[in-house]
Amino acid sequence: MMQLSIGHLFPDLMNIYADRGNVECLKKRSEWRGIQVSVHQINNEMDLHGVHVDLLIVGGGQDRQQLEASNALQGAVGHFVKHAFENNVVMLAVCGGFQLMGVRYVDADGLEIPGLGIFDMETIHPGRQIRRAVGNIVIETQKGQLVGYENHGGQTYLGGSTEPLGKVLVGHGNNAADDTEGARIETAYGTYLHGSLLPKNPHFADHLIHLACQHYEPGFKLSELDDELEWCAHNGVLKISGRSD
Ligand code: GLN
Repeated sequence: MMQLSIGHLFPDLMNIYADRGNVECLKKRSEWRGIQVSVHQINNEMDLHGVHVDLLIVGGGQDRQQLEASNALQGAVGHFVKHAFENNVVMLAVCGGFQLMGVRYVDADGLEIPGLGIFDMETIHPGRQIRRAVGNIVIETQKGQLVGYENHGGQTYLGGSTEPLGKVLVGHGNNAADDTEGARIETAYGTYLHGSLLPKNPHFADHLIHLACQHYEPGFKLSELDDELEWCAHNGVLKISGRSD
């Protein structure tokens, strides 16, 4: 039986706009295929020796939580995440968690919050006088359209060695200057899409599960699921965003 281990990074600290749902979605969609799943909470209280994960998931958080998370990332948790990335663990980082996977986040008060530098990017908050990027968002990616909800003040600028996850069709995305959204490098993905992201985008959830299964069984294929409800929710966001064909 295929077994997968999911690491949920800072589950209490970095979890807003239902981001916890991404872990639940990966777990359920794997179990519905007969894959055994274990979920490990990863934070700086835990002894991480011998902990192995195949997928690593982190959600968003307000500036105050990000500072606390960044302090934890300077220690054992940061080494764990970097090691995981170097070993092609499949990663999904959302909003505030995504920003902390870049080189730095300068918060609304101008405080520089160091990141892990997994993505070659930086995020600058232009200050509270500038309207936050809030609302439904639709992006075009190599894996098809993704829909979600964004709510962030920080604006992200990608460097040369990190690709965007997608192109903005509706919404703000990374910044007000270009139409990029998110980031991706190797098997690590970052995005501003909350909601949570994966339940309304089953094709992307399966892409992440499929990637993780390849470590154990190259060529492993996921069986089809009845995703009527998921596509109904997906198309609902397209409709209210004026994108339904
Ligand atoms: N605090 C960050 C910002 O405002 C991230 C917010 C979030 O995770 N939704 O940009």
